[in-house]
Amino acid sequence: MCQCIEQKQKYPILQVNLKKIYENVKCTVDLCNGKGIRIAGVVKGVNGLFPVVDQFVKAGCKYIASSRVDQMIRLKGAGINLPMMLIRIPMFSEIDELVKHVDSSLNSELETLNQIEQTCKAQGKKHGVVLMFDLGDLREGFVDEDEFMDMAVYVENTLENVDLLGVGTNLGCYGSIKPTEENLGKLCDIAEKIEEKINRKLEIISGGATSTLPLIIDGKIPEKVNHLRIGEGMLLAKDLDDLWKIDMSHMHQDTFVLKAQVVEVKDKPTYPIGEIFIDAFGKTPTYEDKGIRKRALLAVGKQDFVMHDKLIPQKEGIEIIGSSSDHLIVDIHGCNEEIKIGDILDFEMYYPPMLYLSGSPSVEKVYI
Ligand SMILES: *Cc1c(COP(=O)(O)O)cnc(C)c1O
Repeated sequence: MCQCIEQKQKYPILQVNLKKIYENVKCTVDLCNGKGIRIAGVVKGVNGLFPVVDQFVKAGCKYIASSRVDQMIRLKGAGINLPMMLIRIPMFSEIDELVKHVDSSLNSELETLNQIEQTCKAQGKKHGVVLMFDLGDLREGFVDEDEFMDMAVYVENTLENVDLLGVGTNLGCYGSIKPTEENLGKLCDIAEKIEEKINRKLEIISGGATSTLPLIIDGKIPEKVNHLRIGEGMLLAKDLDDLWKIDMSHMHQDTFVLKAQVVEVKDKPTYPIGEIFIDAFGKTPTYEDKGIRKRALLAVGKQDFVMHDKLIPQKEGIEIIGSSSDHLIVDIHGCNEEIKIGDILDFEMYYPPMLYLSGSPSVEKVYI
């Protein structure tokens, strides 16, 4: 009976625990709201999967943010009513759709802002912008403070349909720069200078992403910061715990589980036989000879998760040893349970497999 059902179920599955995601988002929203900070829930890490985004809305995010316009169009169409924010600098080629469907975007280029203005006028619409300042991470944003302030004044005084919502920064993405009281303090100082120049308060001072959460937990976030764009820290909550050594035990980290089916179980040598050349991806991996060991082959591959080393086997005694486009290979020699073909093995994951699996059309999404 049970086996019948299992055979009908399609694998691989990405199992998403919506209740746990809701609780993670609620916990983060409550923490941040306590400091006067509103959350833009960043949904690009799950390809904007609707049921997940729905939890972001229910748990109190004030904006939905993504780097992809198509995800936001789909979400609006599906009934998500929160303001949408594009968190990648817009391409010229997407400005029509941006203005039509997305409420605001992060910006750093005069020509792009001018094109948004023209498009807004043509469509009879308004669009909000957050100007990005680069505090040293060296991805997007103005580096020169005067140029930045001039741009803010230009948007405020010259552009009619583009509204200056505020200023923001991004850290920890390219230059791996840590958000601190000092660098975010600088953003706040600049924001204050802009406010003096335009003679009003800015609505948004956006102090970064998940990597800014430690400052909030430590009570060191500059008071003026009132907006964060959070994805990983609510979806998985693994990075702060593992990389930053911050206790995130109050958060659920088992929100996403890959379930894959075993298609072969055999004893094999651990060192390849023949002349080692290159694998299917042009790499020459190294192999350690551990003699003959029992391994299982699973029907899921790099095409689905890209990085097998970011998957976390859930059964004791199982170790991932490699993958190719369509297969995952695990060492099961040390596993006390018998593993047979047809069995399903579970893997938790870090951010990269969540990103890829959620977008893979060959992976079933199951919500619990
Ligand atoms: C991806 C992204 C975020 C969210 O990052 P997380 O680490 O998932 O919280 C925030 N801001 C920008 C500009 C981004 O590109």
